[in-house]
Amino acid sequence: MNLLIMGLPGAGKGTQAAKIVEKFGVAHISTGDMFRAAMANQTDMGLLAKSYIDKGDLVPDEVTNGIVKERLGQADIKEKGFLLDGYPRTIEQAHALDAALADLGIQLQGVINIEIDSSKLLERLSGRIIHKETGETFHKVFNPPAAGYNENDYYQREDDKPESVKRRLEVNMAQGDPIIAHYREKGLVHDIEGDQDIEIVFSDIDKVLSNLV
Ligand code: ADP
Ligand code: AMP
Repeated sequence: MNLLIMGLPGAGKGTQAAKIVEKFGVAHISTGDMFRAAMANQTDMGLLAKSYIDKGDLVPDEVTNGIVKERLGQADIKEKGFLLDGYPRTIEQAHALDAALADLGIQLQGVINIEIDSSKLLERLSGRIIHKETGETFHKVFNPPAAGYNENDYYQREDDKPESVKRRLEVNMAQGDPIIAHYREKGLVHDIEGDQDIEIVFSDIDKVLSNLV
């Protein structure tokens, strides 16, 4: 299956992506994760990305389109399919993705659109914690780790601080509607209510995807 997962920052894309990957075996391509890995390795691309990400701005399209196209061209994608998470985030990226998929002879099959009121997102993002060893995402209150929350084993993202969150929400809200409209026109969008328990959100997504396989 070749899929996109969309939604505002904090909507639950990464959380649901992990479950989709586990059940359906697709490759998870998260541009945010790719940038964070490049930042951790201090590559040239990582240093460039950091200057945008820390402020809550988008990394320029040329850079982002390039890393996604390269990843989509790797051998495992045709075999397993993919779930793109956090991309496209501008209409120009959506057009670049259309062109990249056409070049590679890959067809997009569905877009999961997680809907949630923006008033819920600040508390989602300010409580987000990530396990240092596995990269798994939890929430201090809404989804605490089963073994308990030991501060030393988790980190909080730099861009989950309130100043960056405000900017990220503005940027993503301004850019998001034309992208969804683009995929609605193609009849690919499945809207999912994001303000429900994590397991219920997944069960709604599972119903949609089970009909696509
Ligand atoms: P995104 O990838 O869309 O930015 P995440 O999946 O990282 O969002 O989720 C943001 C935060 O909200 C995380 O701390 C996560 O544990 C929590 N979360 C995700 N889905 C839900 C949900 N349905 N209800 C409550 N909290 C959630
Ligand atoms: P995410 O992990 O998806 O919340 O992304 C974290 C940050 O990485 C975003 O706030 C952007 O600065 C950057 N980023 C991730 N994906 C993209 C994208 N498709 N286009 C531009 N910037 C991106």
